[in-house]
Amino acid sequence: MKIKLLPSTFDERGCASPEQRLSCFVIDDRVTIDAGSIAIGLSDAQRQTVRDVIITHPHMDHIATLPIFVDDLFALLDEPVRIHATEEVCGMIERDIFNGTVYPPFQKFSNDRTRVMEFVPFRTGEEFRVAHLRVTAVAVEHIVPTVGMVFTDGETSIAFSSDTSATEEFWHLVNRQPRVDALLIEASFPNSLSQLAAVSGHLTPEALRQELGKLSHTGLEVLAVHLKPSFREQLIRELADLGVPRLSAMEAGREYSW
Ligand SMILES: [Zn+2]
Ligand SMILES: [Zn+2]
Repeated sequence: MKIKLLPSTFDERGCASPEQRLSCFVIDDRVTIDAGSIAIGLSDAQRQTVRDVIITHPHMDHIATLPIFVDDLFALLDEPVRIHATEEVCGMIERDIFNGTVYPPFQKFSNDRTRVMEFVPFRTGEEFRVAHLRVTAVAVEHIVPTVGMVFTDGETSIAFSSDTSATEEFWHLVNRQPRVDALLIEASFPNSLSQLAAVSGHLTPEALRQELGKLSHTGLEVLAVHLKPSFREQLIRELADLGVPRLSAMEAGREYSW
C-alpha cells in the first residue's frame, strides 16, 4: 500500500515545503483520507483516479480544498466524487460548505453523464468498503465529531488517529487487528503547550508516548502527523527524545509504502 501526505505549501522553486498545514493522505492513487490539500497536492494522474474521499471531521484544515477539487473535475467526471463520512459530518459539510453560499451544492448537481458529488455515510464501529479498501472508523476525542480508523487492502493494514487527545476506543480497534503495519498518529503541540493541546483535542509528544502505552502491537512504524508548522522543529526534537523505536515525523510529499 502506498500513502502520501500531500503538501500544503511550496517553496520558491515550487518544491513541497516540509510543514503540514493541511491534512490530505492519498492512498494507492485512488482514495484520500481528508481533503485539506486535495485540489493543490494531487498529480494530474491522481486527479483522474481519485474518486473516493474519506472525511474524518469537518475542520477546515481537513476539507479546505475539497470544493475546489470537485469544481475542477465537474465537466470531466464519469462517476461522482464520493464523500465518505459519518451521517453527522456529511450533514455538517452540506450545511456549512456546499450550501449555495460558501460554495454551490454540488451534491445536487450533475454534468452530462453523472452526478458530480455524493455523500456516502458510514457508521462507526462497522466495516465499510471504499474502492479497494476495507475501513473501520471509531470516534476519537476531538472538539467536533471526529473518527480515527484502520484500513486494509487485504495485505497491509494501517491505523490513523486523525485529530484527537487521549482516547480509548481507537486503541481497542487497533489492538483487535491481527496485524498493523503502520500507525499515523497526531502530535500537534509541544510538551510546553499541554494545556492548549488538551482543550483543543490534540496530543503533545508526551501525551503521544502515553497513548502508545495502550498499543499492544509491537515493531510497527509510527509516523507523527499534524505537527503545527510553527513548532515543527521543536516537535521533531521532542519526538526524538521519546526514544520510541521506528517513530518519526511523516514528511509531506514523500511516498511511503508498506
Ligand atoms: Zn481538527
Ligand atoms: Zn486538524
